[in-house]
Amino acid sequence: MKKIGILGSTGSIGTQTLEIVRGNQDLQVVALAAGSNVSMLEEQIREFSPKIAVLWDEKAAGELQVRVADTDTKVRWGMEGLLEIAVMEEMEVLVTAVVGMIGIRPTIAAIEAGKTIALANKETLVTAGHIIMPLAAKKNVSIFPVDSEHSAIFQSMHGENRERVSKILLTASGGPFRGRTREDLSKVTVEDALNHPNWAMGKKITVDSATLVNKGLEVIEAKWLFGVEPEKIQVVVHPQSIIHSMVEYVDGGIMAQLGMPDMKLPIQYALFYPDRRPMEGKRVDFFALSSLTFERPDTETFKGLQMAYDAIREGGSMPTVYNAANERAVALFLNREISFLEIYDLIQGAMEGHKVVPNPSVDEILNAEAEAYEYINAHRK
Ligand code: NDP
Ligand code: MG
Repeated sequence: MKKIGILGSTGSIGTQTLEIVRGNQDLQVVALAAGSNVSMLEEQIREFSPKIAVLWDEKAAGELQVRVADTDTKVRWGMEGLLEIAVMEEMEVLVTAVVGMIGIRPTIAAIEAGKTIALANKETLVTAGHIIMPLAAKKNVSIFPVDSEHSAIFQSMHGENRERVSKILLTASGGPFRGRTREDLSKVTVEDALNHPNWAMGKKITVDSATLVNKGLEVIEAKWLFGVEPEKIQVVVHPQSIIHSMVEYVDGGIMAQLGMPDMKLPIQYALFYPDRRPMEGKRVDFFALSSLTFERPDTETFKGLQMAYDAIREGGSMPTVYNAANERAVALFLNREISFLEIYDLIQGAMEGHKVVPNPSVDEILNAEAEAYEYINAHRK
């Protein structure tokens, strides 16, 4: 029996992780956490009987506690609750599927406690990769990527000598606005941005896919996960999302992982690595597809990707500012307070105004986050 905890169990990745649990009798859920969704967490508690359930929101946790008083599940709230899950004695694997930088402290605590990490929460590595990767190495803890591209890269490196990697080819669908001009983008709505061609995901990451910030975050995530310098990470737009990423080796050979766009495969792979468990679902039909196509990303129009390379080059606390400014700007966009293109303006402004702190501690990362938020509060129109 493999005992897992899920941070973000009510979200897109969280609910798909629970589907994997339903399909594999030897997985047991010992902890669940979400933000404020009382009803869905109650249902999950009744189905999976975790030892602990956490809601970030204290009031919602109070309501949940009353609702599940007839069960054996203990209810907790806030960061304390997330940290309690992170270090739980009986948990072996922590699936980090919360959205945003809130994942940093629980991930660090879980690594300190020797837990295996199935990592979906890319914002954690983007901001704190310089703390998390050396800590995981020191504690001999494995971090298995859940993000589809990183899972593909990981699978394409299986059994290979990582020193022989010459390049990572990180694929991108291009999002719903691929091929549009800046002029077109000035008029897009929240609904347009949420209409992703291939993947059904949470709202924040769906907007990130439209701006290409998601790909920027993934370049930084890949740098930390695989220890590859950003110059060796090339983004390739591949609109069909069948090739989930590729690795080129020094002899020119390229290994790739292909499959239908379905997050359940990378989630399950992270939970059972190195095993490949059977999974139901549609298979790639090459005759129906007939062609796979590739393009160079339009970084002039979709500035989110170039800004990520700038953030890595500056290093230190700059990726945090890139990420935090984006988190806040996307929230404003989803709330219809700013336009799509203003997301870029706010990220760029926050980065320009930031003085880099080299090798930031967790507190310094959180300060950089707060500074980015202040910048945005002061500059939003
Ligand atoms: P969703 O928005 O669908 O879900 C987010 C989850 O986090 C929900 O369970 C939410 O709870 C919970 N949550 C939000 N705030 C807090 C908080 N303060 N404390 C505890 N829990 C909280 O996001 P996704 O599942 O799409 O994405 C999760 C992460 O995975 C992101 O980092 C994303 O970039 C990454 N990812 C997602 C992919 C996808 O296909 N969805 C693909 C690759 C990576 P509640 O419902 O109560 O708000
Ligand atoms: Mg991805």
